[in-house]
Amino acid sequence: MPMFPNGTGYKVCIEMPESEILESVVPRSIIIGKSTIKRIPDIIESLGLKQKIMILTGPRTRYVVGEEIYNVVTSQGMDCEVIIIENASLEAAKSYVDLAEQYKPNVIISAGGGKNIDVGKYCLKQISRKVEMISVPTSTSHDGLASPFIFLNDPTDKFIGECRPPIAVIADVEKILNHPDLVRYIAAGVGDTVGKITAIWDWRHAWRIKSEKFSRFVGGVLENADTLFQSQVSEALIDPEHAVQVVLKALLIAGVLMGTSNNIRVGYGSEHMFSAALDAQTSNADILHGERIALGAIMMAKLQGQNHEKLVNILKNAGCPTNIEDLKVDIPPEAIVAALHRAHKTNSMYTVLGQTGLTKEAALNIAQITGVISELHK
Ligand SMILES: [Zn+2]
Repeated sequence: MPMFPNGTGYKVCIEMPESEILESVVPRSIIIGKSTIKRIPDIIESLGLKQKIMILTGPRTRYVVGEEIYNVVTSQGMDCEVIIIENASLEAAKSYVDLAEQYKPNVIISAGGGKNIDVGKYCLKQISRKVEMISVPTSTSHDGLASPFIFLNDPTDKFIGECRPPIAVIADVEKILNHPDLVRYIAAGVGDTVGKITAIWDWRHAWRIKSEKFSRFVGGVLENADTLFQSQVSEALIDPEHAVQVVLKALLIAGVLMGTSNNIRVGYGSEHMFSAALDAQTSNADILHGERIALGAIMMAKLQGQNHEKLVNILKNAGCPTNIEDLKVDIPPEAIVAALHRAHKTNSMYTVLGQTGLTKEAALNIAQITGVISELHK
């Protein structure tokens, strides 16, 4: 017997052959365009949500979107509280959950960069009552906009768990275009998207070696989306508005596919494990998530026997770092080697790194062969 969407409408169950149930949890509304913030009250009403709202926004992004959202919803008579997220550590996120328990919102609007969105998802997971989340991204650097997975600084970019994905994602392209570091954030979004190529390879590898469940449908859709993205991205980068649309759609597709398969493998493989290990080595350094993923994807693609030079070309065209000299900060090449050597310890999932990871010699070799580092400091 097929099961139909339940009363709340965000959960879709599809009966599969041999009584296997695929449970997909995906956003109900994704809106990308200009002046979309004005539509938030209508969206809240059309989704049938009660109108007590808590906005989570950053110290800078409050001036980009946070205050405008507050004005738009309160002008429609909705109750609203604004919380400024100063810190996205697990410890700090717990204090925002306490605030949410006191205020008792029905809707959390996470407005800003990736960390505001992750703190919103953490509140969604921990809060004792029913609450829905709307994600309002202000940049294109990150694939967590629509996904159900949560990463917090603890003290580094660490996987915390999963929640229902945002019920709506509302991206205002004008706000994203006004980002003071737009070009760098678009490039980082390209970096995170390129990382899907190595993540899918790892997923399929785990299926072959460890009989891990692999969705050919989801893997195929993501690979096709990535091919389409690669063919569009160079042209799109000429025009920032087009670039924002293309990168945003690619990140959203990845996030939605994570919810569709309920499997983090869709967007998380050895390149993300390297990123987490590098984050631990260089915490607080000014390196964006997508920039770390770009370096990781180049090296993992080479290890996987994929065409890593093709990835380097896509990333270079986008202006995304392909070696440590391209980064905004100086990091020692030893940090890259140490992160490669430790990457397999950041997550128990099986990848090209195997169970025991790379030796220091192998790590140095792959980092140099791919040009991510030139030579170690003497
Ligand atoms: Zn990512």
